[in-house]
Amino acid sequence: MAYRRIEGLGELRDKRALVRVDFNVPLDGGAVADDFRILSALPTIRRLQEAGARVVLCSHLGRPKGKPNPEFSLRPVAARLAELLEAEVAFCETTVGAEAEAATHALSSGGVLLIENLRFNPGEKSNDAEFAAELAKLGDVYVNDAFGVCHRAAASVVKIAELLPAACGDLIAAEVDALSPLREGTAPRPFVVVLGGAKLGTKIPVLQALLPRTDAVCVGGGMAYTLLKAMGKSIGASRCEEDLLETAGEILEASRLRMRETGQELVLPRDHIVAKGPNADLAGYDCVEEVPDGLMALDIGPASVAEFLRVLRTAKTVFWNGPLGVFEIPPFHLGTEQVATFLAGRAGDCHTIVGGGDSAAAARQLGLADRMAWVSTGGGASLLFVQGEELPGLAALPEAS
Ligand code: ADP
Ligand code: MG
Repeated sequence: MAYRRIEGLGELRDKRALVRVDFNVPLDGGAVADDFRILSALPTIRRLQEAGARVVLCSHLGRPKGKPNPEFSLRPVAARLAELLEAEVAFCETTVGAEAEAATHALSSGGVLLIENLRFNPGEKSNDAEFAAELAKLGDVYVNDAFGVCHRAAASVVKIAELLPAACGDLIAAEVDALSPLREGTAPRPFVVVLGGAKLGTKIPVLQALLPRTDAVCVGGGMAYTLLKAMGKSIGASRCEEDLLETAGEILEASRLRMRETGQELVLPRDHIVAKGPNADLAGYDCVEEVPDGLMALDIGPASVAEFLRVLRTAKTVFWNGPLGVFEIPPFHLGTEQVATFLAGRAGDCHTIVGGGDSAAAARQLGLADRMAWVSTGGGASLLFVQGEELPGLAALPEAS
């Protein structure tokens, strides 16, 4: 599916372009702690500036629950954006209304304005028609570049697209380009999926959607232990979702059949880095093949990494979602680091696409994000897109003519 792009909106000089961006960034002491999402929106902002538009940016930040709360103000984001753009960024303390409208008209051609947090108004999350109508007064055209929120039917993402001539920004276009081959099953084979993360429950839909079109699936992270338990392995105090043991058994049975019919492999960890807990003193960690009672598996071990690399060595496409261990706490980042480093090293002949909020953070933290074919800005949105779900924010955009 190709959506109408900015070019499709016609002449933009002096027009007010209302742009939905995803500036939901972590703040620390009143400053932006990670500007990855702001950086991702720059190409669209710059393009609109170059076209002579008056750029009106809107976003949510955190969960202020429908009312103003200075803790969730976007003001620090305006400051960081101004540094990155090397240009002035006006900030409006209200989201909609006369003051915000006046601020949009006060912009010069190429000027940039950020309005206050959309979620200070309850109408944002409820996709309210009246709130969308208020927002529509802030632009002559509408551009959605907030891929990370396209799975939510919010007023600034869905309803607004009915009220103004609409298009997708460069980030959404790039996300759709990068993720569509996974969604449509047209990615070059061998196609290998590396799955990890905390919970099997949140990953079952993506696992089931991708299983039929992959050549191998490597599973690590906390989610692996429910599968290992369903196989009858001892998992000690590792993360286990008891209510999913039956489903886990079905997944394993289906994969045994597929292995026999098509040779598709499901690779599970065969050794584990264990400790009393993720915060335990490091003197107490060990590498084992059987997780002893009372200890938790917090990372995959070296033999598991070797197994994963064996499968990844010939891959042409890799989709990686979910850290393979508790990467936030060294040394439990090592499994994730080794697998990610290997994929970065194969950048020339294997397309690696990273999806998921924590996986993207891990790739960036390891300094490997630039060597991946694509690191998605959408956590939940990227998983749902790859699974083949319809995202309301994309469905609301007009198709390219
Ligand atoms: P993503 O956001 O990339 O989809 P998830 O949110 O599913 O990833 O999972 C990330 C979390 O999984 C991290 O906080 C990490 O610490 C945790 N995790 C990874 N491996 C384990 C493990 N063996 N036990 C407990 N938690 C784990
Ligand atoms: Mg996560």
